[in-house]
Amino acid sequence: MDEPPLNLRAVTTDGYLEITWDEGHVGLYPFLLLRGECPCAGCVDEHTGVRRLDRTTIPDDIVIKGMELVGHYALKIDWSDGHSTGIYTWKRLRALCPCPKCKRKA
Ligand SMILES: [Zn+2]
Ligand SMILES: [Zn+2]
Repeated sequence: MDEPPLNLRAVTTDGYLEITWDEGHVGLYPFLLLRGECPCAGCVDEHTGVRRLDRTTIPDDIVIKGMELVGHYALKIDWSDGHSTGIYTWKRLRALCPCPKCKRKA
């Protein structure tokens, strides 16, 4: 499923990104989780797939400063720690969905 979500909403006061995938399917992604899953070449070694990012270095109060759609397939997130090179595909975001429905499948 590579379909874009119906709605995206960064809830900075509560520290999560709300993604409405389709009717009845809403994922709440904590900013810390998303930032820790950043797929950019600076955070993940392109060749080995090993994560370079030390998650303990992510500020607890990290928030999304801005979001930008990349074509029809992905979302670019501008983080408050100055990091903005991560491009999160819908596919990846779906795989990370922490909603009870997806959790049960995993
Ligand atoms: Zn990154
Ligand atoms: Zn889900």
